[in-house]
Amino acid sequence: MRLTPKQQDEVATQRSETYQTLRATVPALEEILCEPLPVLDHGFVRVIDYMGDDAAIVQAARVSYGRGTRRVSEDQGLINYLMRHRHTTPFEMCEIKYHVKLPIFVARQWIRHRTANVNEHSARYSILDKEFYIPAPEHLAAQATTNRQGRGAPIDSEAAQRALDLLRRDAEAAYAGYAELLNEDASGAPIDPRRPSLARELARINLSLGFYTQWYWKIDLHNLLHFLSLRGDPHAQHEIRAYAEVILDTLKRWVPMAHAAFLEYRMNAALISATGLAVIRRLLAGEQVEQAASGLSPREWRELMAALGRP
Ligand SMILES: Cc1cc2nc3c(=O)[nH]c(=O)nc-3n(C[C@H](O)[C@H](O)[C@H](O)COP(=O)(O)OP(=O)(O)OC[C@H]3O[C@@H](n4cnc5c(N)ncnc54)[C@H](O)[C@@H]3O)c2cc1C
Repeated sequence: MRLTPKQQDEVATQRSETYQTLRATVPALEEILCEPLPVLDHGFVRVIDYMGDDAAIVQAARVSYGRGTRRVSEDQGLINYLMRHRHTTPFEMCEIKYHVKLPIFVARQWIRHRTANVNEHSARYSILDKEFYIPAPEHLAAQATTNRQGRGAPIDSEAAQRALDLLRRDAEAAYAGYAELLNEDASGAPIDPRRPSLARELARINLSLGFYTQWYWKIDLHNLLHFLSLRGDPHAQHEIRAYAEVILDTLKRWVPMAHAAFLEYRMNAALISATGLAVIRRLLAGEQVEQAASGLSPREWRELMAALGRP
């Protein structure tokens, strides 16, 4: 279950409270504020709060007093320029706060991004829900042979079913052990009064990486774009990418101009090395260039040809 009925009530209450403000608000983001946006089987992303909009980026770059009278195309042009030339601080003027529910193995990758503020749900204080991630069968793939950090071809349906059964069985057993060690009912009273209730901080240690955790995560737009460029990339693991894609959708609502510039100059762009550029120049001049004589390693060559859309 993504949200319990109590949490759903809390969201409804949050969404029924409105405030008057002189600050800029973004109607498209307000539409989904506090709503859980589903990710994976039990996870979600919720936008909790935000500060700034596209105009705040422009305002900071021009160091102007008001929102200005310039045309939208001029603002988009300026934001594109800032993105293209890595003039990053105006993007730091915008901030956003998310509530994220995610499997622990995704959280371990995510937490490596040090430029955010994080407050995680405490499993020393609270009991974790019986929620663990089970991949969709189509995402079960064999170890990649060309990239040691990735997935290759999908495995056959019989092997996939065996893997899913094993993942589920082990997670169920781990949670049953957790519940036995806790020895607590929903009100906190012992289920079996003859046994001790092990401290929550100890009972949790047998739970595996697929169990879900939750946190509040606040970050400025510049560092969020950095996170998205790494975790929304095809080289990132599918599961964290699923979160990056949902966050990208929230970005499109929040700062549509910065979102468009990010897709154009970062996400869907390519970084070409000096040697790669020399290869492109020779190709444009009509030369036949082979990898062996290009100065690029086979891997760099493959990456360049993929960026150029050549087989
Ligand atoms: C596909 C992929 C595979 C990965 N594989 C591994 C792996 O096998 N093992 C592993 O350990 N990690 C791995 N990582 C994590 C990776 O090495 C980074 O730790 C992670 O992506 C965070 O990047 P970051 O430091 O740029 O981000 P952030 O922590 O958000 O930092 C943003 C930027 O701020 C600056 N910054 C932040 N803190 C400091 C600091 N203390 N000192 C100097 N500059 C700072 C840097 O310029 C940094 O780029 C992987 C990441 C990806 C995307």
